[in-house]
Amino acid sequence: MERERVIIIGSGPAGITAALYTARAQLNPLVISGMQLGGQISITHEVENYPGFWSEEKTPTGPELVEVMQKQAESFGARFEFDEVTEVDFTSGPPFTVKTHGKTYQADGVIVTAGASPRHLNVPGEEEYVGRGVSYCGTCDGFFFRGKDVVVVGGGDSAMEEGLFLTKFANKVEVVHRRDSLRASVNLQERAKANEKISFVWDTVIEEINGNGVVDHVKVKNVKTGEETVRDTDGVFIFIGHYPNSQFLVNQLAMDEQGYVITDERYRTNIPGVYAAGEIQDNHFRQIATSVGQGCGAAMELEKWLAEHE
Ligand code: NAP
Repeated sequence: MERERVIIIGSGPAGITAALYTARAQLNPLVISGMQLGGQISITHEVENYPGFWSEEKTPTGPELVEVMQKQAESFGARFEFDEVTEVDFTSGPPFTVKTHGKTYQADGVIVTAGASPRHLNVPGEEEYVGRGVSYCGTCDGFFFRGKDVVVVGGGDSAMEEGLFLTKFANKVEVVHRRDSLRASVNLQERAKANEKISFVWDTVIEEINGNGVVDHVKVKNVKTGEETVRDTDGVFIFIGHYPNSQFLVNQLAMDEQGYVITDERYRTNIPGVYAAGEIQDNHFRQIATSVGQGCGAAMELEKWLAEHE
């Protein structure tokens, strides 16, 4: 059993910021990164809306931002362990028990920043063709679709941003959206609509993803007319939102009906000494800037709580 002062579960913007602040407060934090160091920004192509890292010449990529953030936290003493938390015992602490695939830790305080994962359509063929035409990450898989035709599902910022990115490789990007107007921000909508490689298929849902070893067509349905048609495509990129990575916290922390951890305005969970920040508890803003602020707040609160409970 390894004993730690502070454990941070997750390494997205909230987790790395919590690490920076607890490290600077001499709490020697250990970040258990999860299987995707940096969380969702590590698979984000360009980050245009996080202040302070932009220039006329270059917009930073997600991985570049993660690297700078991690180095900054490490320079003040934060440690990163590439492992995944499988189980926790918060109810009999403090100290709180945190188990990973390889180790068991005890910690005086914990900040949970385990983030969220892409939601699936749950239609026939989706699971079967993951990695063979079905993808949840344009940045990761766009390269494999050079000169090909792809479908993007969703009408939010992610669908527009990733759709725009995919135009660098794909011949044609068809956005299939279940309504006739987009949820995405005006700026992204305008850019997507102005891109000649992008077209829109309104009021339409995917019913099946089919192929012969790799995806070659989708069956779609117009939700207004009920008409079902087949569209040939080489890839299906799905961007329909996220769900919180809170399965390992069931029966440990209070959650809402969607599985988001419930915190108060000071990022306190229902267990004193356990805090939560970022998308594991925020289903509303979900921005790098807001996650950074929440990670900072949680770290400052934990520091105060530890000092009061010495
Ligand atoms: P989102 O805003 O929740 O959009 C999800 C989209 O998927 C919506 O258009 C929704 O349709 C559609 N959808 C949901 N379930 C569906 C289903 N079962 N079948 C078909 N379509 C479905 O998710 P997001 O785009 O991932 O964005 C999440 C958050 O991150 C947002 O706050 C967004 O602003 C932020 N974000 C920001 C940036 C940026 O600023 N650069 C980039 C990416 C994400 P309806 O519209 O009909 O509900």
